[in-house]
Amino acid sequence: MMDVNLTIIGAGVVGLAIAEKVSQHYKNVFLIEKHQSFGQETSSRNSEVIHAGIYYTKDSLKAKLCIEGKWLLYDYCRRYDIPYNNCGKLIVATSEEEIAVIEGIRQTAIKNGVDDMLVLDRKQIAALEPNIFALKALYSPSTGIVDSHSLMKQYETNAINNDCMIVYGSEVTGISRIRNGYKISLIDSDKKSYSFSTGIVINSAGLTADKVSEMVGIADDKLKIMFCKGEYFRINPPKNRLINRLVYPVPHQNMEGIGIHVTIDMGGGVKLGPDVKYLETNVYDYKVTLSKQEAFYMSARKFLPFLEFDDLAPEMAGIRPKIQKPGEPLRDFYIMEETAKGFPRFINLIGMESPGLTSSLSIAKYVNNLINNTI
Ligand SMILES: Cc1cc2nc3c(=O)[nH]c(=O)nc-3n(C[C@H](O)[C@H](O)[C@H](O)COP(=O)(O)OP(=O)(O)OC[C@H]3O[C@@H](n4cnc5c(N)ncnc54)[C@H](O)[C@@H]3O)c2cc1C
Repeated sequence: MMDVNLTIIGAGVVGLAIAEKVSQHYKNVFLIEKHQSFGQETSSRNSEVIHAGIYYTKDSLKAKLCIEGKWLLYDYCRRYDIPYNNCGKLIVATSEEEIAVIEGIRQTAIKNGVDDMLVLDRKQIAALEPNIFALKALYSPSTGIVDSHSLMKQYETNAINNDCMIVYGSEVTGISRIRNGYKISLIDSDKKSYSFSTGIVINSAGLTADKVSEMVGIADDKLKIMFCKGEYFRINPPKNRLINRLVYPVPHQNMEGIGIHVTIDMGGGVKLGPDVKYLETNVYDYKVTLSKQEAFYMSARKFLPFLEFDDLAPEMAGIRPKIQKPGEPLRDFYIMEETAKGFPRFINLIGMESPGLTSSLSIAKYVNNLINNTI
């Protein structure tokens, strides 16, 4: 007899969404989080964009889960009164070469099932965003923003109402295979060691999901997480009021990031970023590099002609859990039930970078199906 049916490790937006979903169907569900509350890492250090699913490789999990997830998320926000804004996004071309790239992006989007994108000329762009410069733009009407804290709070509330037991301040330190399940060791908030048995494990430990996977014995170089930092600068008032939607430049080739872009938030703030920098070692480095202000300014000035250097101020940084090594082609989310590796009913979620927030509800549904198919 197991102490617990199902244990989820990590209360970021992904772990919380899974907790809400699986606790509708299973009793005796545990969610364990090392911090004192939810969403203290990547889930509260991101752009809060509801992505449309434009850029991802056809048939990838990122493409499928993003598109399904965005519609689920809009419905969820309406149902629970979570602040969101389906504000739309412009991808702007500021040179002749970039105009050529735009049509390719539209084709990729169509292949993924995003068929509502519009190509806009200068006049149409000016009607939407009179203060930006662009020769041509792609407009994505299904892109938006969400208040991610309210979203996570709702996932938490619903999970608790479904009798999910959420344990904060407890860090999982070891996992071993036992008959019919797993033994989980942790250090609780009083620094005491504790262990219990569980039938199913879901590893949604974000930046350290590879380490949690190694605890049970799944160590794979392809699943090694590299910390990849993204920094933001905000646009100070009053110029933040000159932009009403998300504005992105044409992305780089291997999609390590999608270029320094403009995001708006539910509080009326406007920020530039994130940039993309792999850290040499996996350290939680959330400092904003002041000397980057010039590069941010030069990059954004191409499509924000009103911007002056002093309009910017350092905002924050987040860290992507990348399994894609620098220069490698785009990697997909790794979401796997690990029977093939000898660990039945152990589900790994590794490399849950963007669009993990957008996809949180569809990821939860996907994981719930994995569980149903393996029990
Ligand atoms: C700069 C940046 C911008 C982004 N912008 C967007 C965006 O606009 N739209 C979008 O859809 N996505 C975006 N993302 C991606 C999105 O933020 C992530 O996909 C999402 O937050 C991942 O959630 P998570 O729950 O997997 O991870 P996390 O939020 O990292 O949560 C994992 C949790 O596990 C806990 N944990 C780890 N190890 C243990 C352990 N041993 N024991 C107990 N607990 C443990 C951690 O404390 C943490 O709370 C962005 C990411 C970054 C970095």
